[in-house]
Amino acid sequence: MRLKEGNARYIANAPINADHSVGRINRSMGQQPFAAVVTCADSRVVPELIFDQGPGDLFVIRVAGNFINEDGLASLEFAAAVLGIRAILVLGHTSCGAVDATIKSIKDNTLPPGHLPRLVNAIRPAVYDVMASNPDNLLAAATAKNAQLNASVAATSGPILAEFHEKGTITSAAAIYDIATGKVAFL
Ligand SMILES: [Zn+2]
Repeated sequence: MRLKEGNARYIANAPINADHSVGRINRSMGQQPFAAVVTCADSRVVPELIFDQGPGDLFVIRVAGNFINEDGLASLEFAAAVLGIRAILVLGHTSCGAVDATIKSIKDNTLPPGHLPRLVNAIRPAVYDVMASNPDNLLAAATAKNAQLNASVAATSGPILAEFHEKGTITSAAAIYDIATGKVAFL
């Protein structure tokens, strides 16, 4: 698939989408992204680079901890119903501070300051799911589970996204980006 091929080019340091001025005039007529990517706000995770795609190729929704809230869901519905995306990828990553903060919050039984509890509460279900079975690699396990749970949210949220998935016109997947190697592992 296009995302996997693009990630292979990125790892090989052989991008074909290096000149971002290409297609600029065409893009002013409208956008036709082929996929939506829900990923973390982490500055090291840059979907267009990771998947070697140009402007207009990816519809990207970013929030620390890459979970789908109501606003994210509305954005995905727009991408599905109006822009015609064919795939949704929920992309977690190694060393995710938001997942790590959630684990700490649960272990210490405390909440971080400000609005951060909103992130922690959204990621909490993934940590609870894998806590007992993965005590030694909890960060990695919870990061993977969080991506999977949110891919499932994308696939089953009615009425718009669930309908596209039932028809088979959109598929959703989860993956983890390894910051050290650049590799995206699909789950
Ligand atoms: Zn993160």
